[in-house]
Amino acid sequence: MGFIFTIEERCKGCYACIRSCPAKAIKVKEGIAGVMDERCVACGYCINICATGAKQTRSEVDLVRQLLEEPSPVIALLSSSLPAAFPDIRPKQVVSALKKLGFSEVMEAAFGAELVCREYPKILAENPGRPILSSTCPAMVSFIEKFYPELIGNLAPVVSPVIAMGRIIKWQYNPEARVVFIGPCIAKKAETADEMVGGLIDAVLTFPELGEMLGAKGIDPASEEDAELSGPVPSMGRLWPVPGGLLKIAGISTDILSPDIVVAEGIDPAISCLREFVEGRASTKFLDIFFCQGCIDGPAIDNDLSLFERRRVIADYALKQTDPGRTQSDLEKYAGIDLSRRFTDRHTVLPVPDEKEVSRVLGQIDKLGSENQLNCGACGYRSCRELATAVCQGVAEPEMCWPYLVDRLQGTQDELIRIEKMTSLGQMAASIAHEINNPLAGVLVYNKLLSKKLANGTDRKEESLDYLSKMWSEVSRCSRIIRNLLDFARQSEPMLRLVEVNQVIEQVLAMVGHQAQLQNVEVVKEFSPSLPNVMADFDQLQQVFTNLSLNAIQAMSEGGTLTFRTSVENNKVRVDVQDTGCGIPKEHLNKLGTPFFTTKEKGKGVGLGVAVVYGIVERHEGKVSVQSEVGKGTVFTVYLRVNKDEKS
Ligand code: ADP
Repeated sequence: MGFIFTIEERCKGCYACIRSCPAKAIKVKEGIAGVMDERCVACGYCINICATGAKQTRSEVDLVRQLLEEPSPVIALLSSSLPAAFPDIRPKQVVSALKKLGFSEVMEAAFGAELVCREYPKILAENPGRPILSSTCPAMVSFIEKFYPELIGNLAPVVSPVIAMGRIIKWQYNPEARVVFIGPCIAKKAETADEMVGGLIDAVLTFPELGEMLGAKGIDPASEEDAELSGPVPSMGRLWPVPGGLLKIAGISTDILSPDIVVAEGIDPAISCLREFVEGRASTKFLDIFFCQGCIDGPAIDNDLSLFERRRVIADYALKQTDPGRTQSDLEKYAGIDLSRRFTDRHTVLPVPDEKEVSRVLGQIDKLGSENQLNCGACGYRSCRELATAVCQGVAEPEMCWPYLVDRLQGTQDELIRIEKMTSLGQMAASIAHEINNPLAGVLVYNKLLSKKLANGTDRKEESLDYLSKMWSEVSRCSRIIRNLLDFARQSEPMLRLVEVNQVIEQVLAMVGHQAQLQNVEVVKEFSPSLPNVMADFDQLQQVFTNLSLNAIQAMSEGGTLTFRTSVENNKVRVDVQDTGCGIPKEHLNKLGTPFFTTKEKGKGVGLGVAVVYGIVERHEGKVSVQSEVGKGTVFTVYLRVNKDEKS
């Protein structure tokens, strides 16, 4: 696993990481944006841009805990950006907190800067014809090794201040000690693992990881007493994390009128400087180059201070406690430490697809022709062509193109609707055929029997009348089915007028009241007296409540109570039709409204009543819901929109 990885469940496919990654190290597979370790320079941009926390850095907290358990002393090496990251805490309080965690000593990495910076004037003097790039920012060194290998020869062959401190400690100060660097940089984790400078720093903690360790032990640095730092003492080396700090520490003078010495901070200016170098257009002799705007802008610093304020905090810290005499003697003490290093060509290239391939992908996402190329950037790439190229390179997917995806989803949705329509139509045709075929078959049989009897000159009149009556009943059934079907299929818009819902129910009860009485069903009316009118088709509403009442009455074969309750809810008229009947089993609830679903015995139910209710209420832009418990009863609730001029 690399130094930055993706927690797949958290990746929402927003592609912000692609947009932010200067190394194009993000590969999307099945919608998840993963990190290509061979391209990643661990700058941490993707971590800071990812709103869901899907991008994470590999934590070394457990490793540090393990080191602290072991017998060897563990030295904490503090980045000099510490005061900018925690302006309200004194560095000496952090020393105390670290000692409570179990560190034997706490040192400042800034002394490494004192040593390293003194190398730069020498390198510049020794290489008059060769432009030199600073090699102190690990993300930038990695970027050059991977993407500008032709500039590796221009990198100053000097270790970074942290590695210099590692050499001081491991080679001279206390070879037994373990060293943990604590700072704002994620790329430091990668640098300390680089075989060219490896084995010196045993672990790297970012500031948030340090916070995690302190939090777990209940240590609050803000309430700690001061404790002393140890090791060699830096002076102006503390300016290290500020852009231009190297020049100040090294005593290299700059002149803004001269292009000889340039500081490039931030990835965009840095990349354009690198291009100038590669193309041989640069007249610069020394380029101090950073991925961020100095370490005070490191990815693992999270506070509201502006860069100017951070710069001021660091300057104050550098000026406050300097002891140039002590620094000088320490410099002499460690003057023999070898500060040289070499770099590795890690050049990585993605295959360059030919124009035919790119055009094929552009065609696939409907982006052939510049007029179709929206270049909206939603995919994370700056242009449709860049996305198409990335698809050809196998690091992106056509579905990352949002306009294409939306079109495709629209097409799929239309197709699903069409299939659904055809399926329901087929089901309905089959049900109708079945429902009508049975009575018709009966009619044919009785017709045949009657014809036979008449042909034989029968004198049994009653039998013939019985056949005729049976034919009448079957034909009536067909006619009832067709009437119900017509109601169900009625596509005509309701004839809307102002309707008093209580009045509709009164009329329904006048019609079904007799049937209720016959079945020993008591009818209860709980009407709201101040019900606003609704815009509705009176007859259609009547049909709704008739169907619901008849079902309710039929469900109470042993008698019971049918309650009509009207009220206003969320600016809608609500009507509950409640019975104390047999109830509807759970598995039947979602079948309600499906044409021809009935549990009633043949001849009693057609299975269109509830479907008609749903259809009418939907056309009135209302809603129906059902609650039912077997053995206790059922409530059908109808919501109807209030006429907008009515006060509810
Ligand atoms: P039908 O009444 O012709 O069967 P419906 O569409 O009106 O057709 O009703 C479908 C089914 O829903 C009924 O057969 C019955 O099982 C169930 N049902 C509807 N209303 C009620 C109710 N109030 N109580 C119990 N079951 C009901």
